Amino acid sequence: MDVNFRFLALNRAYQAEVKRLFGADIQLGSSLRDITTPNPADMDCLIDLWTRALHGEEFTETHELGDPGRDRRYYEIRFSSIRDREGRLIGAAHIVRDVTERKRIEHRLQLTQFAVDHAAEPILRIDSAGHFMYVNEAACRLLGYTRDELLQMTVFDIDPLNPADLWPERWREVKERGAYNLESIYRRKSGETFPVEIAVTHLQHEGRDFCYAFVRDISAYKRAEEALRRVNAELARSNSDLEQFASIVSHDLRSPMLTISGYVFLLSSELGEQLSDEARNMLEAIRCTVDQMNELLKGLLGYSRVGRGGLNLARCQVDAVLRTVLTSLTAELQAAQARVMHGPMPEVRADELLLVQVFQNLISNAIKYRGVLPPEVHITAAQEPGRWVFSVADNGIGIPPEHRERIFGMFQRLHADESKYGGTGIGLATCKKIVEQHGGRIWAEANEPQGSVFRFTLPR
Ligand code: ADP
Repeated sequence: MDVNFRFLALNRAYQAEVKRLFGADIQLGSSLRDITTPNPADMDCLIDLWTRALHGEEFTETHELGDPGRDRRYYEIRFSSIRDREGRLIGAAHIVRDVTERKRIEHRLQLTQFAVDHAAEPILRIDSAGHFMYVNEAACRLLGYTRDELLQMTVFDIDPLNPADLWPERWREVKERGAYNLESIYRRKSGETFPVEIAVTHLQHEGRDFCYAFVRDISAYKRAEEALRRVNAELARSNSDLEQFASIVSHDLRSPMLTISGYVFLLSSELGEQLSDEARNMLEAIRCTVDQMNELLKGLLGYSRVGRGGLNLARCQVDAVLRTVLTSLTAELQAAQARVMHGPMPEVRADELLLVQVFQNLISNAIKYRGVLPPEVHITAAQEPGRWVFSVADNGIGIPPEHRERIFGMFQRLHADESKYGGTGIGLATCKKIVEQHGGRIWAEANEPQGSVFRFTLPR
């Protein structure tokens, strides 16, 4: 181009690009000023660049040109001067390269880098010698060092569990495993240490090995875990104290109870005829209360003993367990004209005596809380992934939905006229304790068309 912005030489590719970009045809001898660009700022920019070049400046710059609505592209433009033999400036030339693709990639990379730099999670890149090659802002904040300081440091400076002498072995592990999580301890610049979880990813690029560490400060989690452990230990201790207390009390109260019933018996047999009807009723009431108290104590003692000193786990045939239970309930079954049916039963791993107690409680409840119809009890076992589900279904009085959880609590009895049924409210609490100690769950549902179904699970 000469000093009047007239094209002195151009190639086809240049012409085609100007046509594509600005929709303009340029010829030898035509002037840059005759072109109208869709974006007027483009022309200002070009005139500006050429003016500098025509003043003898030689430079390379990248500019974005083109139709603002449609096709903006990036061009790397290199300007050089043209001089005559005497060295006088007679024009300038430029070489134009479309670098849009490269720019887009750079832009995407910049965005990614920006995201990594500002990510909330601390990220560090480490080379095979344990040096930090890259750290983001969150990593600097976490460790209390500046980026420049960290880039002079190694893993061993901040991770006391990863000393330099163990590093070759650790690095081998990183390469072998590729990506994995580990827990460690980091040390801040202040000297304070704290627990971290690190997601390590090994990468290989242009023949070099390195790894990325995504780090999470797990102090809060560890504190919560420790608090939970303490609370659990405390709970276990207070539970066991309570059970011990219940066991001692229920055991020790039984002998005074026996003494009372002994005296009631003596009184009624010694005084016999001399007793008024009222006195006899009173003695009978005392005897009933003492019996009830004995039942309660027995239940409490049974409850507190469940699983004490560990479960006696062994393979047991549930058929045989049911036979034992039904034999011991023969009298009750006959008195209530009850029918108990069961399908095929599996073999399970359980404490057999405790399993007997569970079925005994559930079956005897199914008979006790019967409706007007003769009781019918169906026992089934269903196989589910990882567990057996046992069901004891009856056609009795049923349980309102709002009470179906509460009944598994200690001394929880529902029915207004409980004296009609007798009982202590300990049976289901004992079942729950036994089932849970076996790693299972127990719950109640409604049966159709009437009655309840008690279901419990045992691991397979
Ligand atoms: P209880 O000694 O009173 O039978 P449980 O702990 O075995 O104590 O049962 C608690 C309460 O749950 C019972 O008092 C009763 O109200 C209710 N219940 C238990 N089993 C059944 C059932 N099969 N049908 C209806 N209600 C039941």
